[in-house]
Amino acid sequence: MAWTERQRAMLEEMGVRLWLPPETSPLRGPVAPPQPPAERVEVVAVAAPRMGGDRPTGVEAMDWAALREAVVNCTACKLCQGRRQTVFGVGHLRAHWMVVGEAPGEQEDRQGEPFVGKSGQLLDNMLRAIGLTRAEADEARQVYIANTVKCRPPGNRNPEPEELAQCEPFLIRQVELVKPRIILAMGRFAVQSLLRSNEPIGRLRGRVHRYQGVPLIVTYHPAYLLRNLPDKAKAWEDLCLAAATVEGAAA
Ligand code: URA
Repeated sequence: MAWTERQRAMLEEMGVRLWLPPETSPLRGPVAPPQPPAERVEVVAVAAPRMGGDRPTGVEAMDWAALREAVVNCTACKLCQGRRQTVFGVGHLRAHWMVVGEAPGEQEDRQGEPFVGKSGQLLDNMLRAIGLTRAEADEARQVYIANTVKCRPPGNRNPEPEELAQCEPFLIRQVELVKPRIILAMGRFAVQSLLRSNEPIGRLRGRVHRYQGVPLIVTYHPAYLLRNLPDKAKAWEDLCLAAATVEGAAA
């Protein structure tokens, strides 16, 4: 992928400036992003589906309409009691890129769409910086965005293991239907839960994991990046690794 003037502008918008390694810096002109060195590509964990209790049955065979309906009507855990609405997911149904966040916050609960608050704005800028968008586009450019749980936890607390277990079959089915080429997992909570790991993000990023057979790249949550601006540099590296992984797989 060659970096365009527009993408450079987006990087500026993202707050990315001095920290880019010289050989990959979009400030140096149109160069391809780095290919991941082979030794960095390794399978750390292949997540096995955890079975929930009293979710609707047959999730694994549902089409989009049935899946959406099952999520809207889901009462399998107590998060259903506090939600205004479920937050299913948005984007291209055959997107090459799938972004997985943690859980809906207040704005998402109000609007029914993932990542619509301040962190959503940063996510949009990050996506734009590598030529992606949540707006209507072809499957290579328009991403699909979902969360590990579809209902807002009260007070934005972390979802509990039981809530995750009940909700994960929905995410697994979304992954099966979208068939993304790459999953970008954002934030400690989503990452640890998808990879069944207790390792901090700092130790999980920088290599290619797998979730349901799909390459998965770990990165920081936009809300974290808003509070820790210097780590945007690392997030940019993660995006480059994800782009290189997709391109490497397509080559
Ligand atoms: N944070 C997330 O992880 N997901 C959202 O949808 C909103 C904020």
